[in-house]
Amino acid sequence: MVKVVLAQKLLQANEEVAAENRRLLEEKGVVMVNLISGPGAGKTTLLERTLPLLKDKLGVAVIEGDIYTTRDAERIAGTGVEAVQINTRGACHLDAAMVNEALRQLPLNDLDIIFVENVGNLVCPAEFDLGDDYKIVVASVPEGMDKPAKYPLAFQKAFAALITKIDLLPYSDFNLGAYIEQLLTINPNLKIFPLSALKGEGVEEWSQFIGRVAWKRRRNLDVI
Ligand code: MG
Ligand code: ZN
Repeated sequence: MVKVVLAQKLLQANEEVAAENRRLLEEKGVVMVNLISGPGAGKTTLLERTLPLLKDKLGVAVIEGDIYTTRDAERIAGTGVEAVQINTRGACHLDAAMVNEALRQLPLNDLDIIFVENVGNLVCPAEFDLGDDYKIVVASVPEGMDKPAKYPLAFQKAFAALITKIDLLPYSDFNLGAYIEQLLTINPNLKIFPLSALKGEGVEEWSQFIGRVAWKRRRNLDVI
């Protein structure tokens, strides 16, 4: 019982900082997108392919969450987009206070969209609000069919789902149609983008979508 109470307090404190982040971003006209996935789903590769398609039209930055390394932030910096690294030093998710620190290091007045690459984990990142506008869940073909059933909260809270590594479909028993059906059963409003960041298929559609959503969101237009 004590554990439950502590967890609730922790989440409540997190909510307060998340609300503060949300206020700050709204004031600055910046949309924050929180990418959530298990380890190895391809979030960083996806960003490496997405950022070049957005950075000439929108002010873009990335907040990289990682337990110990700066590898992903270095890869993002290679695209010419500013990246702030958060090392969680063991914690398996980002929280709103960590993101608040990162936001203070970014030129918010020049930005339209911030991508947050959360720590690779489908469990607690779904529970810790960062003050983001949208959660995007990323799941890859080699992870198999059962991620949505095993981690429904991440898929329920998501605005869009990206099914990555579809270039591996011919080598797998992954059934894309059945997977999409499963996603829509869990969350009927989910926007779904099958793509291959490696081969490029679907990346432009996804990039245009998220760019358009960010643009409309900050002008208070209906996003869909
Ligand atoms: Mg990564
Ligand atoms: Zn965690």
